Amino acid sequence: MPAPAAPNAMLTLDNLGKRYAGQGQPALSGVSLSLPAGDILGLLGPSGCGKTTLLRLVAGFEQPDTGQVWVAGRPVASDDHWLPPEQRPVGMVFQDYALFPHLTVAENIAFGLQHRQGLSRAAGRGRVAEVLDLVGLSAYADRYPHALSGGEQQRVALARALAPQPALILLDEPLSHLDAQVRLRLRHEVRRILKETGISGVFVTHDQEEALSISDWIGVICQGKLEQFGRPEAIYRTPASRFVAEFVTQANFLPAQSLGSQAWQTDLGLLTLPLAGAAGDLMIPQESLSLEPDESSPVVIQDCQFLGRERRYCLRTPAGREVHARVNQTPQLAVGTHVRVRVDADQVRLFETRPADPQFSFSINSVTGSKPAGNRVDAV
Ligand code: ADP
Ligand code: MG
Repeated sequence: MPAPAAPNAMLTLDNLGKRYAGQGQPALSGVSLSLPAGDILGLLGPSGCGKTTLLRLVAGFEQPDTGQVWVAGRPVASDDHWLPPEQRPVGMVFQDYALFPHLTVAENIAFGLQHRQGLSRAAGRGRVAEVLDLVGLSAYADRYPHALSGGEQQRVALARALAPQPALILLDEPLSHLDAQVRLRLRHEVRRILKETGISGVFVTHDQEEALSISDWIGVICQGKLEQFGRPEAIYRTPASRFVAEFVTQANFLPAQSLGSQAWQTDLGLLTLPLAGAAGDLMIPQESLSLEPDESSPVVIQDCQFLGRERRYCLRTPAGREVHARVNQTPQLAVGTHVRVRVDADQVRLFETRPADPQFSFSINSVTGSKPAGNRVDAV
């Protein structure tokens, strides 16, 4: 059996694949990645793309059809190795908390320690107190789950997974049942706790902002395949495919035609962009647009949302296309205002349409040549 590629990896997947009985398409195929020890991987992808399947294969709740899983330098699943879930140094946190309603908070956490051999009762109690402190719930040890908020219940679930001191924690959309404010707070808490304990994590979510903010690495999955694996910023700035770009960046995609000499015809008008290519879709991040009132422009503000630090404008182009712009300019521009749109050319990428397969094939061309940061190009 080949050794996993990276010697300091906490988790290595090698050509991992799984097809459920009776399913035509595999739920997961050809997934290979390596997560360095102490790091957090955010797994991002739409519902049904195989995220939970990947976690279940790592935890040992499913057996792979192809490939290998290595945890902490040991093979746990391959053609000739199989370690049952309870023998893997892996903890799991589920979306629905999965606490035992008839056990107190402390008893729920102690439950995860039952299988630990050689742990005295006193040491077990000490460990429960320690993880309760880590998740900020020391005062809640004797409460029952029904007397806790959703966020508190998820903290208990996290404490329960942490108690046996796993090398790796798998979190399956752990925040998706919580309201927005609690989600934001817990997102930072989870990262802090994992970093403080040095435990590696795989955090599954379908929320791109959550994935980008919590993770050291991002893996984007589409229909069972790993589309891209890399640092959050690299994924955001240089998406490897149109799918990744649309799913992760929430950017605008505008059809564009090159007229030569860096001039591109778009719905927003003529843009001057130093891009190589003939035609395709421009990826224009929402934050790369700025607006200026101009009665002669055919682009009009259709809606405006106040998001706190910034506003999100929905613009309508003459062709009836919606374009979104996140800007923090004051004062607010009224709905119905005609605006001239400026685009930060450095942030624009082209997904070029290939003549042979105009609908589905795209190649990427980034802005060519080096240009000063913040260079702005007017749409005229
Ligand atoms: P995600 O967590 O990304 O939403 P899942 O890993 O749960 O996706 O599912 C991936 C695919 O596998 C889906 O098409 C789903 O219907 C299918 N699937 C998941 N679990 C089973 C199962 N136990 N039996 C059959 N098909 C399954
Ligand atoms: Mg799932």
